[in-house]
Amino acid sequence: MNTLRVGGITALTSIDFPGRLAAVIFCQGCPWRCGYCHNPHLLEAGVPVGLPWPSVTDFLERRRGLLDGVVFSGGEPTLQAGLAEAMQQVRGLGFEVALHTAGMYPRRLATLLPLVDWVGFDVKAPWSLYDTITGTPGSGRRARSSLDHLLASGVPFECRTTWHAGLFSEAALLSLGTMLADLGVHQWMVQDCRLPGQTRLHASSLNRSALSQRIQGLQRPGFKLRGDAVSTTRLPPSTLNPS
Ligand code: SF4
Repeated sequence: MNTLRVGGITALTSIDFPGRLAAVIFCQGCPWRCGYCHNPHLLEAGVPVGLPWPSVTDFLERRRGLLDGVVFSGGEPTLQAGLAEAMQQVRGLGFEVALHTAGMYPRRLATLLPLVDWVGFDVKAPWSLYDTITGTPGSGRRARSSLDHLLASGVPFECRTTWHAGLFSEAALLSLGTMLADLGVHQWMVQDCRLPGQTRLHASSLNRSALSQRIQGLQRPGFKLRGDAVSTTRLPPSTLNPS
């Protein structure tokens, strides 16, 4: 097996896998470099990791009957060749599986989707602006291809966009919402971007009420401004001891 490299784990969450009590496994490594990334400690793929995969499965064994599901987050889980086998093991323990991904490996995502019960899919920006956000040429094309796979799969999913006006305009954000609706996306969450170390109070001058109304103006019931900022599951690995 290509052992999954895990940078941390959250023992219990009720907000990262809709309707499920779940644990979150933070996979090590991501090839993109978004300026607002809240998990910079997870970006480098080759650093030593403190959680051997067998200790993660031991932890999950002890949570059988207590948790409904397991979320593979990151970093970017689909970076790792061992993800499919890890998902199969988790399913074998009786858990449902969720995946958080930015969709940078569309063909690999397509092979993983039969193993997944729900996907949280990052849509960083309008496709043409992706490279600026991610620091990676061709990233928009890859994300678009992954979204096509997701739409074709029938797997339930939510698109999420982290936004503030310094990234791209509100008009571009609302156009992105319209584009997603036209593609057939039913769930889209806009998340108020804050930089690492910022609290929401000083994160931005965003008029949440006005933006929420404009998102509602797109007339898609599943399109919303999330009630809190993006870092709800972002705990440093040093605090994530699976005991
Ligand atoms: S894709 Fe996600 S994990 Fe990777 S740099 Fe961007 S925000 Fe961070």
